[in-house]
Amino acid sequence: MNITNDLVTEYICGYYQPLNDQLAELRSMGERDHVPIILKETEQYLNILLALKRPARILEIGTAIGYSAIYFAYKCPQTEIYTIEKDETAFHAARHNIAALGLDERIHSYLGDGQEQVEKLRDIGIKGFDFVFIDAAKSHYRRFLEAALSVCQKDAVIVSDNILQRAMTVSDQYDPQKKHKTNVKKMRDYVDYICRSRELETSLMSTGDGLAVSIFRGEHG
Ligand code: SAH
Ligand code: MG
Repeated sequence: MNITNDLVTEYICGYYQPLNDQLAELRSMGERDHVPIILKETEQYLNILLALKRPARILEIGTAIGYSAIYFAYKCPQTEIYTIEKDETAFHAARHNIAALGLDERIHSYLGDGQEQVEKLRDIGIKGFDFVFIDAAKSHYRRFLEAALSVCQKDAVIVSDNILQRAMTVSDQYDPQKKHKTNVKKMRDYVDYICRSRELETSLMSTGDGLAVSIFRGEHG
């Protein structure tokens, strides 16, 4: 089930323009192989956020084949990107794609769990992130966020993808067999947490599969 009217989505995506041919090709590869890369409308919205924020250092949790990391690199040509992927096959595919485009100087990719790898980065002094994209295991967002905040600057923008989980987060009627009960509960708790947290200011949107956009007030500890 699509969370918004199909016609609305089609209309909005009708205005989608790939940034360049390399990204267009990688997107069709990802879509062909059913890799859950960012949706077109999500990318359209990220375009605006990135143009406004102009981040110096982006942290991404969930690389998959590297589509979004590569998109960040093209969209923000001065920016350093750190991206973490747990699955070895995906990690190697991403490394391959990043290197083939000559972006491996600016996209730093790490194999492992999002939280663990962020903590390692912090321990070796890599912090000061001002833009975070959380797009990995949906039931682990809370611990990814906690780790990410520990390496973020004040006023960092944190984007959490897939928060609506095809609307299951909104209502049990979208998960009638309760197949996703645990994940759904965890995402509801996560959304509740980021919306109530005093260290974040958060706005929820139904763009794509649901986005939460938060600003870090800078009082983590
Ligand atoms: N951001 C990518 C898509 C990511 S899909 C894009 O838009 O192009 C989500 C990815 O998160 C999957 O490849 C999955 O293997 C990875 N993942 C799952 N659990 C993880 C974890 N604990 N730490 C890091 N990555 C994880
Ligand atoms: Mg996603």
